[in-house]
Amino acid sequence: MANLNIDSEKERTYDAIVIGSGISGGWSAKELSERGLKTLVLERGRDVQHVKDYPTTNMYPWEFEHRGEMPYAVQQENPIVNRCYAFHEDAAHFFVKDKEHPYVQEKPFDWIRGYQVGGKSLLWARQTQRWSDFDFEGPLRDGFAVDWPIRYADLKPWYDYVERFAGIAGDRDGLPELPDGEFLPSYPLNVVEKYFKQKIEAKYPARKVISARCAHISKPEPIHIQQGRTQCQSRTLCQRGCPFGGYFSSNASTLPWAAKTGNMTLRPDSVVHSILYDEQKGRAIGVKVIDRNTKEEMDFYAKLIFVNAAAINTNLILLNSRSNRFPNGLGNDSETLGKYVAFHNYSARMYAEYEGLLDFKTDGRNPAGGGYIPRFRNLHKQETDYLRGYAAGFGAYRSANSDRSGLGEDLKNSLLNPKLGNWGVSSHMMGETIPKASNYVALDTKQQDDWGVPLLKIAIDYDDNDAKMKKDYLDTLEEMFVEAGFTNIRRDDRWQAPGLDIHEMGGARMGNDPKTSVLNKWNQMHTVPNVFVTDGASMTSTSTQNPSLTYMAFSARSVDYAIKEMKKGNI
Ligand SMILES: Cc1cc2nc3c(=O)[nH]c(=O)nc-3n(C[C@H](O)[C@H](O)[C@H](O)COP(=O)(O)OP(=O)(O)OC[C@H]3O[C@@H](n4cnc5c(N)ncnc54)[C@H](O)[C@@H]3O)c2cc1C
Ligand code: SF4
Repeated sequence: MANLNIDSEKERTYDAIVIGSGISGGWSAKELSERGLKTLVLERGRDVQHVKDYPTTNMYPWEFEHRGEMPYAVQQENPIVNRCYAFHEDAAHFFVKDKEHPYVQEKPFDWIRGYQVGGKSLLWARQTQRWSDFDFEGPLRDGFAVDWPIRYADLKPWYDYVERFAGIAGDRDGLPELPDGEFLPSYPLNVVEKYFKQKIEAKYPARKVISARCAHISKPEPIHIQQGRTQCQSRTLCQRGCPFGGYFSSNASTLPWAAKTGNMTLRPDSVVHSILYDEQKGRAIGVKVIDRNTKEEMDFYAKLIFVNAAAINTNLILLNSRSNRFPNGLGNDSETLGKYVAFHNYSARMYAEYEGLLDFKTDGRNPAGGGYIPRFRNLHKQETDYLRGYAAGFGAYRSANSDRSGLGEDLKNSLLNPKLGNWGVSSHMMGETIPKASNYVALDTKQQDDWGVPLLKIAIDYDDNDAKMKKDYLDTLEEMFVEAGFTNIRRDDRWQAPGLDIHEMGGARMGNDPKTSVLNKWNQMHTVPNVFVTDGASMTSTSTQNPSLTYMAFSARSVDYAIKEMKKGNI
């Protein structure tokens, strides 16, 4: 007979469980605990406490053993994560190393992960743009993927809500393709970025160059001070963790806020294996967890479950939640779970020089990173031979160089008197890829990880649409650079493996029709009403904008809905 410990089961029962403590999980945790629900947050990685666990945050460059670079042996051991631009000595401890968590690449896929309390919110580049109706209406208009079950108006109040709390710096630019938000003061463009803006907007009125919008407290409001955060000091050392709470992270913002309510229990080192489904009740009843260190297996129970493990891991958990009712993964009646995964295409860049405005230089650092060119292709009508479009980053900088030739006093003098060169300018593409059934993730039937979870197989690739879009980006930016009088223009046309753009989405998409989607318009499973997915797995299509602000808005909106439904007795 089973040895039932009734008290222990009670101790492991909460009102709500959140899986994952990153950007979306932090928001789910905050909203649930603030609304009075006893909430358990399960995080597979170690604890990372704000300030205390940022070991490199105040280090000088010369204090790093390898001056910030990763040693060659570590680079060789970690070919995947080493390709991420932020994998350096100062922040390497926040990245998953290749050997620690293997996966099966049916096609090359650079899966960049942060497994710790706070997830990738500690590492992100903090670019935050709202999506617009051009994005939410896109699939219906262009005939790709399925129609989104929501429009911008459904999300607008929730964008307002999360922006005020998170702190987003930006300008009100009045562009329908990039709706304005509840902004703190923006970080202004520098003189060459402004020059490019004037040149481009004069010649091509539909193309705009605006200040990048970012999750930094440029000027704190009382709500930020109440969180214990303060003004961003523009150190641009953010990926180390910021002791000022100058940028938004779960660790500085949503998690401590949730903890203050007294309703949140955070359990790090808890690898969620699967969601438990009760056939009689027709609902999920809890989750199975494997302790990361002891490998002990335990179940936790709750009326409400929010899955926020980041897009691909959320797919893994759902696919691994198998029962008689759902033999192919929880809520997977449509057989679409794990499919229609899409991503952003960041695989092209442009570089050039500008020989003008040499009376100016930059002073200080811009945490927003410079300018942003919102998507201008195929907005009002289909005008190219590819679907959808791209946004682009744009930045200008002026670097100082020392002449290192010579010897003795001459060398010393030239090292001590660096000369300013021309302005360097650069741009990178941020393209939308089209969700397709052939881009999928699935469970490997033979191999398991150290916690008994099947390894994930990833089969995701570019297509012809991406190739045409990339060529258009390179041709168009080159034309714009020529128009601005830039010289020494270089096209950087690479095909980095998907994944490196770190914006993977889909697999458990939202939709109106349960036959072709997993979630309804509230991020709620069509067939398991007490399970909500509010991270990137829920995205029906990808837009060109950065995604994380939208995950925040979805999380807050879904919790609000779920609590109202619970009160009505529907959940
Ligand atoms: C270098 C870099 C730059 C980026 N720049 C930007 C940007 O400028 N703008 C933008 O919008 N986005 C950016 N991103 C992406 C952004 O970080 C993610 O979109 C965002 O963090 C996703 O939020 P999430 O809650 O879905 O996942 P995460 O923040 O990754 O959190 C998921 C959490 O779930 C945990 N977890 C996973 N599996 C399990 C399990 N089985 N059991 C328990 N816990 C589990 C993980 O350990 C993790 O802590 C960037 C990312 C990186 C790495
Ligand atoms: S730029 Fe701002 S957010 Fe980033 S580390 Fe510096 S103070 Fe912190």
